Amino acid sequence: MRSLRSGILARRSWVCIQCRRISSTPLFNYGRLPPREREAIIPSRPARTRFAPSPTGYLHLGSLRTALFNYLLAKRTGGQFLLRLEDTDQKRTIPDAEKRLYKDLDWAGLNWDEGPVVGGPYGPYRQSERTHIYRKHADYLIHEGHAYRCFCSAERLHTHANYRNEAGLPPGYDRKCAGLSRGESEERAAKGESHVVRLKVDRYPDYEDIVYGTIKQDRPSRKSRNLESFQDAYDPIGRVYDDPILVKSDGHPTYHMANVVDDHLMRITHVVRGTEWMSSTPLHVALYGAFGWKPPRFAHVPLLVDQNGQKLSKRNADIDLSHFRDQGVFPATLLNFAVLLGWSHYQKSDLFSLVQLEKCFTLKFTKGDTKVAFEKLWYLQKGHAQRFVVGNEPEFQGMIVAVLELLKSTKTTKKLSPILQGRPISQYIAHLLKADSSAYTTAFEFFTRNLSFFTPRLDRPKYKPASTPTSTSSPRPMRIPISCLHTAAAAITLVPGEHWDAEILKANIASYDGASAIEAPLEGRNMHPPDGAETETDPARARRAADKEFKKQLYHYLRWALSAGAPGPSIPETMGILGRDVTLLRLDEARKLTQEAGARSPVAERLVRDKQREKAEANKSNRNPSAAGEKKDTSWMGSLAPRK
Ligand code: GLU
Repeated sequence: MRSLRSGILARRSWVCIQCRRISSTPLFNYGRLPPREREAIIPSRPARTRFAPSPTGYLHLGSLRTALFNYLLAKRTGGQFLLRLEDTDQKRTIPDAEKRLYKDLDWAGLNWDEGPVVGGPYGPYRQSERTHIYRKHADYLIHEGHAYRCFCSAERLHTHANYRNEAGLPPGYDRKCAGLSRGESEERAAKGESHVVRLKVDRYPDYEDIVYGTIKQDRPSRKSRNLESFQDAYDPIGRVYDDPILVKSDGHPTYHMANVVDDHLMRITHVVRGTEWMSSTPLHVALYGAFGWKPPRFAHVPLLVDQNGQKLSKRNADIDLSHFRDQGVFPATLLNFAVLLGWSHYQKSDLFSLVQLEKCFTLKFTKGDTKVAFEKLWYLQKGHAQRFVVGNEPEFQGMIVAVLELLKSTKTTKKLSPILQGRPISQYIAHLLKADSSAYTTAFEFFTRNLSFFTPRLDRPKYKPASTPTSTSSPRPMRIPISCLHTAAAAITLVPGEHWDAEILKANIASYDGASAIEAPLEGRNMHPPDGAETETDPARARRAADKEFKKQLYHYLRWALSAGAPGPSIPETMGILGRDVTLLRLDEARKLTQEAGARSPVAERLVRDKQREKAEANKSNRNPSAAGEKKDTSWMGSLAPRK
């Protein structure tokens, strides 16, 4: 991070030497770290990373996160992201898993630079097509004495394991076949005798993990009891070894063998994967050592657990991606949610688009299990919805279409013409989304929340004034006569159609003097003054308190009148979206429902007056064709009208 100052009065600002972001506060300065530490946070050279799923299931939250971390590391460093299918376990392979994987990654926007479908210089990228490569490498290890063929029968191994188990000894192999001469081993193999290939491991090497530091190995070959007298005979309780299998008896490689060979041949520099693979890493490092290869750098990221600390599983929400997609979760939201599971950052907000993540990702992972809380997913979804709407992103169109489809499924579209008044339905929905995107989670939730906008006739519950919390200093709640609210509703909507918009309506409500509105009725009817206002000695403050309380009741009344009390966009925005006629109609209905016997309706009067005026104007313009050019009448604006 470097400090920038352009001029004496300019505030100090900082520019990150990594991502060139300018900030008024110093961000974490990776540039100042010693090279070794910095390298562990963000490699200085382009990283080649890979996502290597086994097609034994569908992509779920945990595997999406692994793919994302690897993708981001490659993008952040200008490297390549590879996709490799680890399909060596043919028995567990699910037929459509591969197709679904492509679909899911495509939906998430994680495009791979090399891999199936797109190809690349180190293919094939499907392990089932690389058997010959693993065989060649296994032969090499045998030839170099780092591996050997093991012809032990399943029965022998089983008896051996049982014996040790009953004796309370750790499992292991006694290396019976390691002593076979090269000639005998070759001959038996050539005859087709069933065998596996084992790696000879006396001690697993230590390795350096980017997240966990030096991982020391206390697993030398397993020494249980070395009884001299049993040296030459079969000795089930003697020394045992791990000597892991590299090639199975069916000739297919094990995961370890294929994984290491491929990572090396595909020039992988960094492996980011879950901590569940940490126990395999010493074996992998040993295998790299046997080949004489430099291992990639490993970063093991925390396990995902539920709120009770249980590993995420199908039962407790580590559901496959279609679950999120079908609910309407945006890919951006799911990626944003996934990246925060075990990654820490120094940015101001947790809301990231994929493009932003590509610019600021680092290898700063947390240690220990990561609890997954789905409330965060919905919080992020609202943030992305707002981002899409404000930025008029392509996803905004998708949101409109999703709401429209729901509307069509209710078969009420035709009944909406009095509300739409000629406006295209998608434009109407877009208007509503613009006003209420900060609360958008799914199209369904949005639609049901805003049902009052898609309902020609409102079914309002019985009106109840807003509850006013009683304070100890002024225990009596404010009572505002309903007629005052009717009058206010009529006054603030005194706006002709051509000026009907949320901004003007908002200004009208703000400038409406609630304190004066209630003065007269209070005097006449011996009502209580607003809560707090009666104890206020400063008249200006008393008026402000009265106005505030009045507005609260007014907003409450208007929400009940316009949307049957349902939450949604602000009141001025609601009026703007519904349009003048529907607003006035709903206010009039509300008034009738709350009208005290004998009272007159200002809204109804207004509607009649409007109609009369429209008629008169129509007559006038019929008589005088130049009427359209007449000066605009702005008297309706009251104090807001431009001065003559
Ligand atoms: N095929 C392994 C899996 O399914 C890959 C593990 C690794 O990244 O090395 O996750």
